[in-house]
Amino acid sequence: MKNKFIFITGGVLSSLGKGVAAAAIGALLESRGLRVTFQKLDPYINVDPGTMNPFQHGEVFVTEDGAETDLDLGHYERFTSVVLGQENNYTSGRIYNNVITKERRGDYLGGTVQVIPHITDEIKAAVLRVAPQGDVAIVEIGGTVGDIESLPFLEAIRQLKGDLGKQNVCYIHLTLVPFIKTAGEVKTKPTQHSVKELRSIGIQPDIILCRSEKILSPDIKAKIALFCNVEPEAVITAKDVDNIYEIPLLLHHEGLDERLIEVLNIWTGAPRLEPWERLVASLKSPRDRVEVGIIGKYVNLQESYKSLHEALVHGGMANQVMVALNYIDAETVEREGPARLLAHLHGIIVPGGFGVRGAEGKIRAIQYARENQVPYFGLCFGMQLAVVEFARHAAGLSQAQSEEFGIEPCEPVIYLMRQWYDYRKDAVVVRDQASDKGGTMRLGAYPCVLKEGSLASRAYGTGEIMERHRHRYEFNNHYRERLENAGLKITGTSPNGELVEIIELENHPWFLACQFHPEFKSRPMAPHPLFRDYIRACLEYKQRTGAGTLEI
Ligand code: GLN
Repeated sequence: MKNKFIFITGGVLSSLGKGVAAAAIGALLESRGLRVTFQKLDPYINVDPGTMNPFQHGEVFVTEDGAETDLDLGHYERFTSVVLGQENNYTSGRIYNNVITKERRGDYLGGTVQVIPHITDEIKAAVLRVAPQGDVAIVEIGGTVGDIESLPFLEAIRQLKGDLGKQNVCYIHLTLVPFIKTAGEVKTKPTQHSVKELRSIGIQPDIILCRSEKILSPDIKAKIALFCNVEPEAVITAKDVDNIYEIPLLLHHEGLDERLIEVLNIWTGAPRLEPWERLVASLKSPRDRVEVGIIGKYVNLQESYKSLHEALVHGGMANQVMVALNYIDAETVEREGPARLLAHLHGIIVPGGFGVRGAEGKIRAIQYARENQVPYFGLCFGMQLAVVEFARHAAGLSQAQSEEFGIEPCEPVIYLMRQWYDYRKDAVVVRDQASDKGGTMRLGAYPCVLKEGSLASRAYGTGEIMERHRHRYEFNNHYRERLENAGLKITGTSPNGELVEIIELENHPWFLACQFHPEFKSRPMAPHPLFRDYIRACLEYKQRTGAGTLEI
């Protein structure tokens, strides 16, 4: 079979869930036995999303190979079995960067370098490079049709139909069909306009996905079909749902996968959707509920903790428990103290983070969890601050700090490691505080050896694991013995023992913090073992203490 491509564009407005729709399409194709891969093309000029403000952009998703990518890659991995990397996310900035580098090198032999064909050729080459990863490549174009920024991407995918042949390319356009209360009906005009815009640049969609509150009636579908030049069967409702994991089944009932294989001329067996049916059924019938508090800085923006949010939901699924997430602002904890704000929780989490703002509030929350036997799970920054908290309050190092904060006097229990063996580079890295910021980040999957009998090794059920990292600072081995003597347990390290990757505590039912980000690898079909065990510990805490039961 030739490589096939599905291009997904968006219209009307952003935030319609294009990424999740792309991911769900991947799930449906996988359920039919096809191998899929994905690519996200982002129209902004930043070379990668690594340094983008999470308030604007949401979480930075980290891949096995250490790419800092758009959070949609997280959806793609969670809904399917794919493992993505650097090649699966391109921004305009990266495309332009490549073209300008070539121009400086003289590759264009003095010719005039233009958006068409040079930028569009670079985009097409990037798209074609991922094709061998699957039978079908699902390529999502960020932004909405009509944005100036996305034009080169749209032109490139328009050309690809001619290059690859029409049976190998399918265009899907996602729009909004709003229900207007005063008129008492849904309106198709925004969809008509959006498709008109797309057709004016030469792309005729094969399938129109309509985000809507309700399943669209046959006459509404017929109307959209007529105005948008498609068959009524090509108009598919993407109905609002309570839980994103319902979307593959919903799109299947609307006939989307059937239509797709028809357009792409692929022969497959019937889809095997039982795993999704089981998943949705279990989501809908939890036997209990736990309250988990996430103490963070970007609490107003749940998008910045997307993978964490999903991993906790998966941990809940593994225990048939509904996980209610309470986003709590670290600075409020700092001001008001933890007792009142955290009393109703069955578990506390300090997630990844950067910078000193809110750090003291997070430390107070960790102290509260440690002293009150509340299950604690620290992720990356959440481990570093757990070490600081323990050093200060249990090991007598009252000046303990992370070097990241630049506060003096300082016992730097977390610091910028000056020299260490980097497994990914297979070389010794030397650096100092003046080193280039982006360059000094430890990024991507690193091995970690687990200590037998620990919570970690019992959860994973294996001796060595690979988990993804994204941080600059590390545990300072200078303080290792002192902290261990005070009851800190180091239960995961790099194979050479140099980098501390997991800590746990003596005399606490579940206190585990890791230097990596396990949330990036959790999937609904395979909940991450640490999240599974953490939620179980939260449930046990609830049963033991009865905490929070009055509120429910
Ligand atoms: N700010 C910390 C560091 O750079 C932690 C980063 C994170 O939590 N991802 O090491």
